[in-house]
Amino acid sequence: MRILLVEDDALLGDGIRAGLKLAHYAVDWVRDGAAARLALLDHAYQACVLDLGLPERDGLSVLKELREQGQQLPVLILTARDTSADKIAGLDAGADDYLTKPFDLPELQARLRALIRRAGGAAAPTLAHAGVVLDPASKQVTRDGQPLTLSAREYALLHDLLRHKTHIRTRSQLEESLYAWGEETGSNTVEVYIHNLRRKLGSDFIRTIRGLGYRLGDTS
Ligand code: CA
Repeated sequence: MRILLVEDDALLGDGIRAGLKLAHYAVDWVRDGAAARLALLDHAYQACVLDLGLPERDGLSVLKELREQGQQLPVLILTARDTSADKIAGLDAGADDYLTKPFDLPELQARLRALIRRAGGAAAPTLAHAGVVLDPASKQVTRDGQPLTLSAREYALLHDLLRHKTHIRTRSQLEESLYAWGEETGSNTVEVYIHNLRRKLGSDFIRTIRGLGYRLGDTS
């Protein structure tokens, strides 16, 4: 799950990034509106946390352009602008949620979980397939009711596959969702995580679609 964080306050940005990384998100952090625009053009994100008062370009104008391009990406505005008129302007410009500073990190995380599951077409808070249940709130994964221990990357990869249950995910799509800028990606790391997940979830849980990528196995 890859998130774009747009925040020009160094201390706050650092805190949010650290908190989201602990929640197993890959986080790209940019500090101005122009960089946000470029990042959004170049990468597939699952959500964006957007400050409004930014150097170079206001967050609202970045958001409006994103929506004019027809981009569906969930956007949560995180700002000190707390009047009712500000909130209305933000939501009407295409934001999916609006949170004012100061805020609690657990609330930001819960709002992101809600946005991401809705964007994936789901209302239920957990994802399940073939006896495996993943709970994004607690980061717990169980198989037939038994808790499993997964590494952060294994968890993120499983989360991605569960969100795209009926789709084939290519290796580059999975890499894009697992890694933020500057994080090491070995040549076969996705394969290693798939191997580990099969060991923990059963060999049929994830299918290799030759030449294309990976998909969850059939439930029967
Ligand atoms: Ca700001």
